[in-house]
Amino acid sequence: MNDGCHDHLLRGVEILHDPSLNKGTAFTAAERDALGLHGLLPPRISTQEQQIQHVMYNVRRKPNNLEKYLYLIGLQDRNERLYYKTLVENLEELSPIVYTPTVGLACQEYSHLYRRPRGLFITRYDRGHIREVLQNWPCKNVRVIVVTDGERILGLGDLGTNGMGIPVGKLSLYTACAGIDPAACLPVMIDVGTNNSELWSDPQYVGLPEPRLDGDDYDSLLDEFMEAASAVFPNVMIQLEDFGNKNAFRLLARYRDRYCMFDDDIQGTAGVTLGGLYSALRMIQGKITGQRIVFLGAGEAALGIGSLVAKAMMAQGLTEEEAIGRCWFVDSRGLVVACRTDLEEHKRRFAHDLPFHRNLPEVVEAIRPTAIIGASGQPATFTPEILAAMARLNDRPIVFALSNPTSQAECTAEDAYRHTNGRAVFASGSPFPKVELDGRTFIPGQANNVYIFPGVGLGVMAAQAARVTDEMFSAAAKSLDEQVSKEDFEKGRIFPSLGRIRDVSAAIALAVAKVAFARKLTKMKEPVNLPGYIKAQMYDPAYPLW
Ligand code: NAD
Repeated sequence: MNDGCHDHLLRGVEILHDPSLNKGTAFTAAERDALGLHGLLPPRISTQEQQIQHVMYNVRRKPNNLEKYLYLIGLQDRNERLYYKTLVENLEELSPIVYTPTVGLACQEYSHLYRRPRGLFITRYDRGHIREVLQNWPCKNVRVIVVTDGERILGLGDLGTNGMGIPVGKLSLYTACAGIDPAACLPVMIDVGTNNSELWSDPQYVGLPEPRLDGDDYDSLLDEFMEAASAVFPNVMIQLEDFGNKNAFRLLARYRDRYCMFDDDIQGTAGVTLGGLYSALRMIQGKITGQRIVFLGAGEAALGIGSLVAKAMMAQGLTEEEAIGRCWFVDSRGLVVACRTDLEEHKRRFAHDLPFHRNLPEVVEAIRPTAIIGASGQPATFTPEILAAMARLNDRPIVFALSNPTSQAECTAEDAYRHTNGRAVFASGSPFPKVELDGRTFIPGQANNVYIFPGVGLGVMAAQAARVTDEMFSAAAKSLDEQVSKEDFEKGRIFPSLGRIRDVSAAIALAVAKVAFARKLTKMKEPVNLPGYIKAQMYDPAYPLW
């Protein structure tokens, strides 16, 4: 074994108990003889395909999504290749189980359902020793870390250590969607406490029942983690995930030029939304530089999208001032404008010299946007009146209702089509079923970050890039748009089918790796056949023959 996780040859039951090696009933007769497995398995030998059918049969007969999730996690613990191959072949059906929305439920129940650990837990009591904790991880060739402090898990708020389900789920998607070897993936929870007092009083809570660290104590712990992780695992890329709003922007600004890292909530969301905008504009023959975009929400998602969209406009010839001037933000207190005295620092860049408006209907009439993008976590805020106004102002209004889960979306797909007479180009954060309206069928797009982060990770890893830059996310967005075909457009889709995700990720990885080479962000020499080189890096969950 050269995966950095095994240091001696395993035999017999040890193999069956090692999820990275176990093939269960698919071990051939010859393998069973050679590996000392004879008699340790039932006699009938299956193919991996038959095992996948068995898994899906069991998944589908579970009574609810949480049970499906638990069954799949159990499979991941027993037989990694079967888990990933099942996921790859059934991604559309299973990604809402292993990731949002079901993973949210799983996080809420994490302590109650806890059976065995997955990933690494670091706390304030490890201060000064974080390197040693990281060295306890059995695999030495870690290339991707997803880390959270559990403060803002999906739309569910502060879940403390229960948020560990998120890094675990995200890394499953890195493997399934972009073929990052599971042995190279490390989920990390930095448990700095929780301000969720319900957790303190829950005797089953497995995290630290104490208030969150703050200020310099928090920053120095995170500094130590970033430094230690990059030292213990050279070439690692660190993805920040579900950090609270006040820390996410700060940490990204603090680390982006020091480490190979990014924040998916800010930059990954921006990449997928810009990709969706490019495709929407290709569909309706519009130009990015001609858009007037109103964002509902001015948090990690919305401001991340705004910054990347502004960069895309600048790349098409607008000045920074002109580009920024085409994006407007509405937060919980109203339009983000310069005269407001209550604005956080990260919103100031987009605070225009305009009269203040308290609510979205007023803003829509004042700004006359071509696109509205919701990332506020507030359901039903794109009201029938606002949608009708968008249809009055535009032939083909762009309406993205990105808030998750489905119940929080700013409007439903059906509302978006109905109140714009079927003229909206619509995408959402969570999946909506297709809509039948006046004899027409509409397939809503899902602006799922899974289109972007696995491909970016693969590109950064393949090119051994030392940094993750916004230019990489712009290139990823462009590449995502290029994967949307005429046939997709004919069905009304502005994102490719998830069934093609491994090809999509490989193309995005190529675009990202090209940025790394062009900008000299790597010491590696560019391979002659870069696309072939990237594909060769991808983990294939099909069973190897022993
Ligand atoms: P966040 O907490 O950083 O930001 C939320 C923002 O919404 C804040 O600026 C807040 O002031 C604003 N807000 C709250 N109530 C409002 C109201 N009534 N009117 C206007 N603004 C209001 O959260 P975030 O990370 O930016 O995520 C926001 C939403 O976007 C979440 O629901 C999340 O699930 C979703 N999201 C979707 C995707 C995707 O589709 N790919 C990716 C990331 C986040």
